[in-house]
Amino acid sequence: MAKGRVQLRGIVKSFGAVDVIKGVDLDIAPGELTVFVGPSGCGKSTLLRLVSGLELPTGGSITIGDRDVTLAHPAKRGIAMVFQSYALYPHMSVADNMGFGLKIAGVPKAEIRARVAQAADILQLSHLLDRKPRALSGGQRQRVAIGRCIVREPEVFLFDEPLSNLDAALRGQMRVEIARLHANLGATMIYVTHDQVEAMTLASRIVVLNAGRIEQVGAPIELYRNPANLFVAGFIGSPQ
Ligand code: ADP
Ligand code: MG
Repeated sequence: MAKGRVQLRGIVKSFGAVDVIKGVDLDIAPGELTVFVGPSGCGKSTLLRLVSGLELPTGGSITIGDRDVTLAHPAKRGIAMVFQSYALYPHMSVADNMGFGLKIAGVPKAEIRARVAQAADILQLSHLLDRKPRALSGGQRQRVAIGRCIVREPEVFLFDEPLSNLDAALRGQMRVEIARLHANLGATMIYVTHDQVEAMTLASRIVVLNAGRIEQVGAPIELYRNPANLFVAGFIGSPQ
């Protein structure tokens, strides 16, 4: 079954004269939690933005499920993106924040209520649905932002360093929650981080990026045991 599959073929992206993504081929299987990891500026966010449609490639093609979405509008790709800085509507309750996108899309009220209730249950937000964002902790707000994505039932979830604004303790806790969310939903997720520990603990598969190219793709243990080169060895921190 192709639902949730992501295929990148010969992806190139330049900004003016600067080549940022220099030929990326990647297959992501349905239900995988793939982590893009690499140093700051290597092109992780750009690659994710190409999958989301927030950027269009200079060359190559992108398939999600069975559909070629290379030039498709972000709203037509079956993806939902969780950002590092999440803006909740301050005047709306948690429930209304989570359901707002569905309301705009014309989904019937009863269905919105049901989907919000289900997402709140998964994220342990059920007791907070009537609160305003200002009455929530940082971690709870981040969960509401994830809830907004869940209710849309996307084929693929995209996360760009969603935890980097949180303190270390909360980051550890949220990491566990994202792993649990992945286990619960069984959805395809692509997760960008520059943090090796986050990559090693969360990923089904890690994609190591360096200067716009893939250095290696593999399960965390494979990369740790058999790094393809010194860059990967150094980055993953294996003694080699
Ligand atoms: P990462 O997320 O790995 O830190 P990015 O994908 O954000 O890296 O950026 C990769 C490179 O592309 C950087 O050198 C950055 O300055 C450049 N870049 C990203 N977006 C743009 C843009 N819109 N215009 C010009 N250069 C950009
Ligand atoms: Mg980035």
